[in-house]
Amino acid sequence: MPVLVMKFGGTSVASLDRIRRAAKRVGVEVANGYNVIVIVSAMAGKTNELVGWVQETSPLFDAREYDAVVSSGENVTAGLMALTLQEMDVPARSWQGWQVPLHTNSAHAGARIEEIGTENITQKFGEGMRVAVVAGFQGISPEGRVTTLGRGGSDTTAVAFAAAFGAERCDIYTDVDGVYTTDPRIASKARKLDKIAYEEMLELASLGAKVLQTRSVELAMRYGVRLRVLSSFGEQSDNAGTLVCAEEDIMEMNVVAGVAHSRDEAKMTLISVADRPGIAAAIFGPLAEAGVNVDMIVQNISEEGRTDMTFSCPTDQTLRAEQAMQAAKEAGEINFHDLVVDDAVAKVSIVGIGMRSHAGVAAKMFATLRDEGVNIKVITTSEIKVSVLIDRKYMELAVQALHDAFELEKAG
Ligand code: ADP
Ligand code: ASP
Ligand code: MG
Repeated sequence: MPVLVMKFGGTSVASLDRIRRAAKRVGVEVANGYNVIVIVSAMAGKTNELVGWVQETSPLFDAREYDAVVSSGENVTAGLMALTLQEMDVPARSWQGWQVPLHTNSAHAGARIEEIGTENITQKFGEGMRVAVVAGFQGISPEGRVTTLGRGGSDTTAVAFAAAFGAERCDIYTDVDGVYTTDPRIASKARKLDKIAYEEMLELASLGAKVLQTRSVELAMRYGVRLRVLSSFGEQSDNAGTLVCAEEDIMEMNVVAGVAHSRDEAKMTLISVADRPGIAAAIFGPLAEAGVNVDMIVQNISEEGRTDMTFSCPTDQTLRAEQAMQAAKEAGEINFHDLVVDDAVAKVSIVGIGMRSHAGVAAKMFATLRDEGVNIKVITTSEIKVSVLIDRKYMELAVQALHDAFELEKAG
């Protein structure tokens, strides 16, 4: 029988009633003749609560114990979904990551999937099970400990299962009815896209559009998984969602496909470090070892052999970053006068494959922000994106202004 992967995010399993509604959709696909692999997230808000408990207990927590705690939300919804399906007379069984098994590396709190064992589930399908309900977001390390795949990781679980089982499609059910030109919660003029190219979705996701986890898009692109984002609410009939597909399969495209934002950014500046060969390595080596995800980096022009080095990272990693820098200073590896932390910044980005062949896109972005009186603190660019770091209080304004300036409410 053909296999279908259906993933339900936190809001789609937020209560017993919602789990029932999701289970009904699964029942329809079973009746359509599919063996279904259902990937579930934890109930909405659960993972945040668990993360909060870990941080309150131990600010610089041991990531193995973080994973032990935060992976638990998905265990609950997997069991409840299997029970709900059984009540509907659909043969279903729940699977935790280790039972599958879903093997990952040992990078706790942000582990990468290495292999999915398909034998156990395939055997059960052979014995008449029609739905395998898999706890998303979690796996097992080579040391036999529970790992998690980073926030939003259930999307990646879903795509990885679709690839491993050669599923016909991977449907991501969420609380919006597809991928929009920007977060519809921020810009009311945001437009739903029927299709989006893998590359653009990859950039949008990595720049903060949390509708799909970045790694899930990467995997879908690599393995050619047909990935669809759609709503778990409303009628199924008018629920085509958004197809994430190859660039060649899209007829019309805007130069800018979308605007992404990332709220929880922090900017850190090391004031007056020695400008000498190896200084960047001496700073960013210890940050990497401390598990800080450095994003943007700016090194100023030096004066009298000294310079300022600025970088950005997620707000919840500033403590780790500060400690790593102070330790490096005490060890004599680096020297600086001061470490200035600005944890009230946000990143706003424009993304589009069309930028490869169109000049003036970045200039138009900067002019738009100037007209709104928004000061730009850091800029980075790549072939298909431009990102700026700005004061967080202007984030919504910037997103809306850019959406208007590039006329994203209109189809290309
Ligand atoms: P789930 O719990 O189903 O995984 P998420 O909260 O992780 O859902 O992702 C869905 C949310 O992503 C939406 O509610 C929306 O606010 C946000 N989002 C951000 N950018 C976009 C975008 N470009 N298109 C659609 N949704 C977006
Ligand atoms: N529950 C996890 C999170 O909130 C994983 C997921 O929902 O994708 O990050
Ligand atoms: Mg999500």
